[in-house]
Amino acid sequence: MKSRKPFSRLWCCLRWLLVGIWLSCNPHLYPLNPATRAAYRHQLKEMRKVYRHFVPIQLPMDSLQQAFWMAPSPNFNIRYPNLVIIHQTEEQSCAQSLATLTNAFRAGRVSSHYLICKDGTIFQLVPDVYRAWQAGVSRWGPIRDVNSASIGIELDNTGHEPFPDTQIHALLILLHVLQQRYHLDTANFIGHADIAPTRKQDPSIYFPWDRLAAAGFGYWRDSVLVSPPPDFHPLDALRIIGYDLSDTTAAIVAFKRHFVQTDLSPVLDSFSLKVLYDIYPKYRR
Ligand SMILES: [Zn+2]
Repeated sequence: MKSRKPFSRLWCCLRWLLVGIWLSCNPHLYPLNPATRAAYRHQLKEMRKVYRHFVPIQLPMDSLQQAFWMAPSPNFNIRYPNLVIIHQTEEQSCAQSLATLTNAFRAGRVSSHYLICKDGTIFQLVPDVYRAWQAGVSRWGPIRDVNSASIGIELDNTGHEPFPDTQIHALLILLHVLQQRYHLDTANFIGHADIAPTRKQDPSIYFPWDRLAAAGFGYWRDSVLVSPPPDFHPLDALRIIGYDLSDTTAAIVAFKRHFVQTDLSPVLDSFSLKVLYDIYPKYRR
């Protein structure tokens, strides 16, 4: 039998749950430290406390045709992302991109978790624990639903220009925060073109992947490179890094856009092969 009391209790609990989720996404990105971590754990504890007062309640009929029961369990955590996807907006200004990424009525709606302007301003558009619409049809290694597994960061950039120092500096600070928060693997900082080689070209060859790698976000080639042995299989190496090989030409271009950056021809020349031979063991897990 339905009664109003369980529902008001349910609403109260859901409200606290939502508040807890929002609080756990600290809008002040910089002061993440042991105290902040402790605050997060405290918030999670508070979220779970609510469930102690829950009693199983019967929910009304819906499209399932039958009523079903809700018996919430306090044994949960917030799901953590394990990839960071870097994008460039390919628009003319941060304001324009902000409008695009927050427009609820535009056909083909898109979003990302963060947008970083050229002056270093960081906008958080979607909380980390929510699934933003930034990766699209894509694949990285065994992961096919990249949106569910990743945090997306858009950089204000037309795609035909270098990324200013101030913007990269802000990105590095944000990546540091995310790495601390989610214990991300060094290999798991990649570009949109890496996960969607047939559809995307961002970020461009101007993106300083070497600077990111030097700070511990992704890998870069060593300064001394050696030629691979005759039994080296380049496509196996690309697959080990994470590339989708359903279109090998596109995968080669995506690899070169990220790790070579001097030319984007769909051919693994001798330099590209040396880079590939150097890079792929770093991604072997
Ligand atoms: Zn993109």
